[in-house]
Amino acid sequence: MSPSKQAGWTMPRYAEWRLLPTVVELWSDPGFAVDVSDAARDADLKVWSSHLDTVLGEMADFAIESRSAALTAILAATTALGEDDAALEAFDAVEALGSGGYGDGFFCRATSYVSCAECAMFFGPLQDVLQHVHVAHPRSSLWVHALQRDAVTLAELGPRVDLSLETACAWSAVLELAQLDETDDGLVTDAQLDAAFKGKKVVWENGPRGTKRRGPWKDVVSLPLRSLSPSRSFCFSGPLTDAHLDPSHSSGASRRRRAAHTMTATCSTCPSSPSRT
Ligand SMILES: [Zn+2]
Repeated sequence: MSPSKQAGWTMPRYAEWRLLPTVVELWSDPGFAVDVSDAARDADLKVWSSHLDTVLGEMADFAIESRSAALTAILAATTALGEDDAALEAFDAVEALGSGGYGDGFFCRATSYVSCAECAMFFGPLQDVLQHVHVAHPRSSLWVHALQRDAVTLAELGPRVDLSLETACAWSAVLELAQLDETDDGLVTDAQLDAAFKGKKVVWENGPRGTKRRGPWKDVVSLPLRSLSPSRSFCFSGPLTDAHLDPSHSSGASRRRRAAHTMTATCSTCPSSPSRT
């Protein structure tokens, strides 16, 4: 199985490419690419050419692993799979991808959005986030600050995308408030959300100090990205007095209840109206 043409951003950045097994092998060879004479360079080129197909295969494997890691993160945060540690551990994402049920269409759906694991401030479809990762975090060095040394494995460099339960809950609430959580093709644009929330402000009433302010719907997504807290509640304020959002009706319900996320909507023009939880 190979990633689609649109999945090009799943390819490794330089530091990740540098840790592919065959690249490490060649890099560690004390006799490879050290002599700059023409004869030595010709010999090095032959060695490199003989390994090229293997390196390309490892790059393709890396791309599949990227999609596998993203799929696992999405399903863990949005479905019942995340409730069962044993099932999550046993989940074979590569096999699931090979089954054909999780193609580009799945990763483009609004309910499959992920965030950048490096800055946590970019959120969207997998391919957009991976493109952001390449552009904003080109990763030319193996240095890992947390380890205070160079990474020696791809795992030590860490995942490229992530999806926290808090972000998944907040995003789910935004989609439900906008009544865009069940579109036919699963695709949702910013313009659709802007139209749905036109004239409305959102407030995270129980958010951490400094985050309690009215703002656009995008704030509801960016706040949990910046302020992860498993016991917070999110409250939405806007002229949506009939909206009562409780994610317990959807898949992953008990896991979400465990995270104690209850979303409510109140009228922004009637501050005294009771919040509904
Ligand atoms: Zn980023």
